[in-house]
Amino acid sequence: MDELRQELKIRGYRLTSQREAVLRAIYEGACTQSVEEIHERAKQWLPSLGLTTVYRTLELLKHARKVQEIYLGDGKVRYEPILETHHHHLICQVCGKVEPVEGCFLSPFEGATLVRNGFQILGHRLELYGRCRDCQEG
Ligand SMILES: [Zn+2]
Ligand SMILES: [Zn+2]
Ligand SMILES: [Zn+2]
Repeated sequence: MDELRQELKIRGYRLTSQREAVLRAIYEGACTQSVEEIHERAKQWLPSLGLTTVYRTLELLKHARKVQEIYLGDGKVRYEPILETHHHHLICQVCGKVEPVEGCFLSPFEGATLVRNGFQILGHRLELYGRCRDCQEG
């Protein structure tokens, strides 16, 4: 958080108490939070915080490449911080629960160039769909 604050300041972003609350909500909350969830969480530190400010701050953080949008296939946009070590999501198709899964078996491909089409890979996203432990029968 402190490093992030420094970095945003260096880049010329003013950290108002509103932005600060949104930032904190994103970093301290669970991964894949919806705008409403971020808003709810941020309001505990700043009850007067409006939803518009949350949207604006998210735009700013996206611009600063600190936050990314996550799509889980239900048409809702969710957000989570861009951290040095990334993770993937297990999505239960029965109850809708989202579990983060540590480790990445695709990381050897980062920075590699695909021979066939000369494409350089710089990043990836992966969501795994299925049934969580609770939703499996028997
Ligand atoms: Zn996540
Ligand atoms: Zn489930
Ligand atoms: Zn990965």
